[in-house]
Amino acid sequence: MSNIEQTLSIIKPDAVERNLAEKIKEKFLENELIIKNQKKIQITREEAAEFYKVHQTKPFYDRLCNYLSSGPIVVMILEGENAITVNRKIMGATDPKQADDGTIRKEFGISIDKNSVHGSDSQDNAKKEINFFFS
Ligand code: ATP
Ligand code: MG
Repeated sequence: MSNIEQTLSIIKPDAVERNLAEKIKEKFLENELIIKNQKKIQITREEAAEFYKVHQTKPFYDRLCNYLSSGPIVVMILEGENAITVNRKIMGATDPKQADDGTIRKEFGISIDKNSVHGSDSQDNAKKEINFFFS
């Protein structure tokens, strides 16, 4: 049975700054994920804090929020068969050093902070995150 899903992807400031957005989008298209909607924006520190609220108790929360609001980002709705899982696979592990060959984070990520992309990790979060940016 088919399972068409939507997920939220963000190209983070480090990748936008290095003009990697088009190269990263190619990875999605190569893996049969369609970009249904996209916009380039810069969010405030407060919006970043809201977006990453699930991490508010983590030691890296402050740094994470400062970083995501530090420059332009590209937010996208990706759609396709098992889009949430497929996107997480294309992204690679959170720490680029641990990421598999061929993944976005392996190829483009600089560090665990500057890891180039965000992707929703569940159906629930995908819905919430899509609503957060596109509503
Ligand atoms: P994202 O949510 O950005 O797609 P992820 O789902 O792979 O990344 P999460 O556990 O949700 O990883 O962490 C969110 C972000 O917080 C990561 O992208 C990373 O930049 C940062 N982060 C996660 N774990 C650590 C850590 N141990 N030290 C520093 N930063 C971290
Ligand atoms: Mg996450």
